[in-house]
Amino acid sequence: MQCLMCCLSCTYLKKAKSRVRSERNMEPVLKIRIRNLNPHIVCSLCAGYFMDATTIRECLHTFCKSCIVKYLQSSKNCPQCGIKIHETQPLSGLKADNVMQDIVYKLVTNLFENEEKRKEEFCKSRGINVAKELNEADQNVPLTSVYDSPTGHHYSNDELVSLCLERDSLLLPLQNINGQPVHIPPLDRKFIRCSTRTRIAHVKKLLRKKLVLSQSLKLTISCSEASGLDDNWNLKQIWLQHWLDKDPPLILYYAISSS
Ligand SMILES: [Zn+2]
Ligand SMILES: [Zn+2]
Repeated sequence: MQCLMCCLSCTYLKKAKSRVRSERNMEPVLKIRIRNLNPHIVCSLCAGYFMDATTIRECLHTFCKSCIVKYLQSSKNCPQCGIKIHETQPLSGLKADNVMQDIVYKLVTNLFENEEKRKEEFCKSRGINVAKELNEADQNVPLTSVYDSPTGHHYSNDELVSLCLERDSLLLPLQNINGQPVHIPPLDRKFIRCSTRTRIAHVKKLLRKKLVLSQSLKLTISCSEASGLDDNWNLKQIWLQHWLDKDPPLILYYAISSS
């Protein structure tokens, strides 16, 4: 038997929710031309959109990292307002502006993808094998230096991302060669915070270690509609391409199969 009060409150809640939704839908959509925003998201040194946005602490003017670093080789003043950044070491007066960079990526469609393509083409034209170098870097970076060391590792000053590692529940249960079910316990901690430079290869290493998976088992990682994410992708790329409109944490699904 259903409780009348419960049914009434559910109906009331449903109505209230749909009213809020329709009010939201009726809000006028504010359209802004990107060219009106350009003065706030374009670097005055190169006239392009900010890349690795970097802000001067003293006056809060923002430039591309490479532009401002190059400029400060021959000056100690802000190129925009002329304020002295630092008596001897102007570079110490700069800070990476990740919020501004994310705003630029969100406003300018495909900027991130185009920049990645441009980098790839540049590397190709110089004969640099990026995939090979990344894989070699993976071999050299022990997992502990990324996740376990509280101080002193290379990633300590990085932008961080909150990550949730979920088991893909749609897959069939695992079986060993004799057809017996193989039980893999869930992660004891599925939420982690790590550098946005962390790559899928690192996440896989972490999962293999935590779940004590044998190398014979295949591990694949997916995110919303993107399945089988490439080992060389980092979490920043994944966030920008698949999670920009969603709330944190970034949810990655891992699937284990007998290969
Ligand atoms: Zn620039
Ligand atoms: Zn300035």
